[in-house]
Amino acid sequence: MSADFLSNMVQSVRPSATIGISQLAREKKARGDDVIILSQGEPDFDTPAHICDAAEKAIRDGKTRYTAADGIPELKEAIRAKFSRDNGLDYSSAEINVSPGGKAVIFNAFLATLNPGDEVIIPAPCWVSYMEMTRLCGGNPVIVPCRADADFKLSPEQLEAAITPRSKWLVLNSPSNPTGAVYSAAELKALGEVLKTHPQLWVLTDDIYEHLVYAGKFATLAVVVPELKSRILTMNGVSKAYAMTGWRIGFAGGPEPLISAMRKIMTQSTSNSSSVSQWAAVTALNGPQDFLENWRNVFQERRDLICRALNGADGIKCTPPPGAFYVFADCREALKKRDQTDLKFCEDLLEATGVALVPGTAFHLPGFFRLSFASDTDVLRDAADRICDFV
Ligand code: GLU
Repeated sequence: MSADFLSNMVQSVRPSATIGISQLAREKKARGDDVIILSQGEPDFDTPAHICDAAEKAIRDGKTRYTAADGIPELKEAIRAKFSRDNGLDYSSAEINVSPGGKAVIFNAFLATLNPGDEVIIPAPCWVSYMEMTRLCGGNPVIVPCRADADFKLSPEQLEAAITPRSKWLVLNSPSNPTGAVYSAAELKALGEVLKTHPQLWVLTDDIYEHLVYAGKFATLAVVVPELKSRILTMNGVSKAYAMTGWRIGFAGGPEPLISAMRKIMTQSTSNSSSVSQWAAVTALNGPQDFLENWRNVFQERRDLICRALNGADGIKCTPPPGAFYVFADCREALKKRDQTDLKFCEDLLEATGVALVPGTAFHLPGFFRLSFASDTDVLRDAADRICDFV
């Protein structure tokens, strides 16, 4: 195949670093190497039994056919109930989208709205896919580097300065992947004041880590600034909260015209998310929620353990993140000593110790690495020992 058979678009897009590194590590492991994969953000818990039972029942009951492209009514109802119960947000079922994963929600929303040259404002450090998805959909990502001493959060002044007549979306991700930063209601309100004065700008709030907040309180823009709800897409999913990453169910609430445009794209692309996964998600959202708190407590213990251990490593510094399950560690001193970049550091670390991490460069902040602490404490202790020895 000649190189120009591939589209210019796909040639300009970078593959996902989180997926790439984790795949590399899995292959190493399959070859028999002693590998610890802390590069992919997924809970190590099994999907709870009552959710698996619901999926099994769906299969037995013949719920194995096409469904409405953007979700079965029962799941839309469960999502409406979730938004109401957890957030105090009211959406009609025509304002709900179900896509095969949170990523697909974002992709469908961007594809439905971006014209060539439209800008998407992305505060950084940011998850690896916002920028590339923007480009895949023809838009221009506008990365706004946020300051470490502001906990990597976007300030109203930075937002104002980033807005141009071509700005179409702002992406807000709280708790944040990779930093774990959590925006308070007051901080969202301040951003909201700026947004109110720019009526062409919409906001995608990626709330996928909603249930993993250790300090402070989760807040989402559509609740804090209801006047903006008519131009907010509130995105979430069952992956991280219910340990259902492989089931691929993401969802969003937003204005009906956008939801309907996203549905049109789905009718011509993926069609529906897996019918069985949708029934499992109904049970996840409608079933018992008490285990979420236990899981959060487990994550918090792991967070504290790994932060203590990493702070004992030569040239590595980290503060316990208030949310999500990532430590975004400053390894600039260690890099200086080794005279290498974060990319090379992570490559060498994997080669020498078998620990897979993601370099900060993938999240638009070199000099750092991201470690997912969604693993057992013994595994984390072992990984920390290996990292300490390595540096
Ligand atoms: N969101 C997770 C991560 O950042 C899963 C992998 C991905 O989709 O990027 O590791």
